[in-house]
Amino acid sequence: MIRIPRTVYEKFLRFALENANPLNSQDWKECIGLVLGRIMENEISVTDIVPIGAGTAVFVDITDYEKVFSLISFSRIEQGEVIVGWAHTHPGLGLFLSGTDIQTQRLYQKMHPKAFALVLDPMKVSKKFSGFNIYRLDEKKPHPITEEYYFDQEFDFLSVLESLTSELYLVPIPLIPATPVISSETEVSWKGINIMISGKTKVLMDQLFQVQVSVNLPFRQFVRLEYQIETDNMIENLFPLELAHSEFIFHETLTSGTLGIYTFRSKMIGTSYIRLKNIYLSDYQQKQQKMPELRLITQIREADSH
Ligand SMILES: [Zn+2]
Repeated sequence: MIRIPRTVYEKFLRFALENANPLNSQDWKECIGLVLGRIMENEISVTDIVPIGAGTAVFVDITDYEKVFSLISFSRIEQGEVIVGWAHTHPGLGLFLSGTDIQTQRLYQKMHPKAFALVLDPMKVSKKFSGFNIYRLDEKKPHPITEEYYFDQEFDFLSVLESLTSELYLVPIPLIPATPVISSETEVSWKGINIMISGKTKVLMDQLFQVQVSVNLPFRQFVRLEYQIETDNMIENLFPLELAHSEFIFHETLTSGTLGIYTFRSKMIGTSYIRLKNIYLSDYQQKQQKMPELRLITQIREADSH
């Protein structure tokens, strides 16, 4: 088993996020570090991950002793700390060992058979999952083996990531309804993503009412939603003025959120609709996929006379 302190995890996650802003998939860089620890009979106790660098070439030459020893002081070695492995990130790429990673890991295991490779994808962090795997090679087996690890304490990984992100970057705040007026909703599930348009289905003539558009993602990843709202000519929108021709972008990494709240005024008696149309999803690979339209039908009645 491998034991990891929460503080070491937070340190390496911070280094990963400094080089890959979860709110913006531009210029994500891979990071690398050396894992220090103590080797015991049945356990490796990790004590630190020392950042080495970030960039596109993350191969670390462990024969560069000068660099390695400049990173680790002799007092630490005296206290029994040794290099127990190496850690690097795959921002948005998933958890695995690439061909180069396997070659690097072979060198580490030559140095010490228990040395391991830690691979972290910060975009894989969830409430219950740290976002990293630990690997070792067994030459008798065709694929790297995933090793078990545990933390010195229990905590919510996602809130660690979120607080580090808001410490490092400006986090956009989703719109929160001031007075949510929601009486009915229509919902579609599209590629596992739940999109909901909700508002009153029965409104009085000349009455103001609100419509809320919200989204629930099945998992956490970089997602951008572009959409348009359209109404038939029986409803006049008040804000934004050019709503029917506007385009909105949702740029978040939260798994759920409100895209917007729109205020309308009912104009003509009869059946009317608010339609969410031309909605596109793009993930970090910039795939665009069109979804079916979603409409909220509203019945407009004459205002009660007083
Ligand atoms: Zn890699």
